[in-house]
Amino acid sequence: MPTAAGTVFFDRSHTDDLIAYLNASPSPYHAVASAAGRLEKAGFRQVTETEAWDDQAGGRFVVRGGALIAWYVPEGMGPEAPFRVVGSHTDSPNLRVKPLPDTGSVGWRQVAVEVYGGVPLNTWLDRDLGLSGRLALRGGGTALVQVDEALLRVPQLAIHLDRQVNEGLKLDRQRHLTPLWGIGPVDEGALIEYVAERAGVAAQDVTGWDLMVHDVQPPSYLGRDRELLAAARLDNLLSVHAGVAALVAVATADTEPAAIPVLAAFDHEETGSESDTGAQGPLLGNVLERSVFARGGTAEDRARALAGTVCLSADMGHAVHPNYSERHEPGHHPLPNGGPILKVNVNQRYATDGVGRAVFAAACERAGVPWQTFVSNNAMPCGTTIGPITAARLGIATVDCGVAALSMHSSRELCGADDPFLLAAALKGFLEG
Ligand code: ZN
Repeated sequence: MPTAAGTVFFDRSHTDDLIAYLNASPSPYHAVASAAGRLEKAGFRQVTETEAWDDQAGGRFVVRGGALIAWYVPEGMGPEAPFRVVGSHTDSPNLRVKPLPDTGSVGWRQVAVEVYGGVPLNTWLDRDLGLSGRLALRGGGTALVQVDEALLRVPQLAIHLDRQVNEGLKLDRQRHLTPLWGIGPVDEGALIEYVAERAGVAAQDVTGWDLMVHDVQPPSYLGRDRELLAAARLDNLLSVHAGVAALVAVATADTEPAAIPVLAAFDHEETGSESDTGAQGPLLGNVLERSVFARGGTAEDRARALAGTVCLSADMGHAVHPNYSERHEPGHHPLPNGGPILKVNVNQRYATDGVGRAVFAAACERAGVPWQTFVSNNAMPCGTTIGPITAARLGIATVDCGVAALSMHSSRELCGADDPFLLAAALKGFLEG
């Protein structure tokens, strides 16, 4: 049911809304801006890290670069009250623009790019690519830019010139990924001039930028029964979107939650989280601590609050692949639309333990959603996420969960069309708990 905020649905319309969110969020900066807009609509207020925070109840959020932390203080909550944190991340593997972007070769105009995160390089070939990100302006301030038209392309070599291609495509990260965007001599300054114009700012005022490319093909329902969703950046905007929906639902409900619900959407997960906006940075810890202190708490209250805090970290996981089922654990085969997955790895690539499993089970039970378990095949390396980092950095109990997908990190991923709202419902059940 929609709330007063008009943004929370726990049925297919949630997935329609996710599609709108994905379209509006080609970069982490856009993902944060779109999330902030939804939170504001639901009555949350942005606070800055440089101002003093008040002790009032209600919803607040902080934005730093591509990261956002939002929380809702229920009426009459003491400073020792524990938090319930949903973790997620805003970044996705992609190609990002280099500092001197204008380049070219043999009569082609090209844009120099760097590989961001764990990219299956072939998935960026022969796609119509747009450009987005933020521009830093002379004198301070930033502007977002989003070009959704077909602007760039990384062209694959014709099979006639690469007869061995089907024995295994080899791509050199420096030489073979440079997108083209026209014909003619290298035109220095042209890319920034172009994006400045698209952003409606003067090119000479753009003194810094964080720009990246994205596939301009919009998300689509897929399959005979339209039960699947194909889209870019499901990892991990699906979880950010679900977290926003869950937080808004809890904050606008008639009954107050038992703990302080928090949404943490970090940047830089795909490169190891080590940045001022990543999960290894101090952002979440600072916000939780300042929330305790703003309500008159002491160091003792902070320790009590954190000791009672639980984090449910949501990130995409692997569905069993029909063409490579031998790569998966034979007894654990998560399928799309089977509900969110609990991720387990005893070597702490995931933070879940037996007690965490019980927390997740309770959240799903409360929400009335089915759930599944993921564990790696012993012969396969296991991925990791922000869960173990949050657990180690803040010393809070953490559980890793997510949604089962195919083609993770591809420029276009695939998941079940029902799983986004099943995850959102489970996160809401957790935040209420
Ligand atoms: Zn992820």
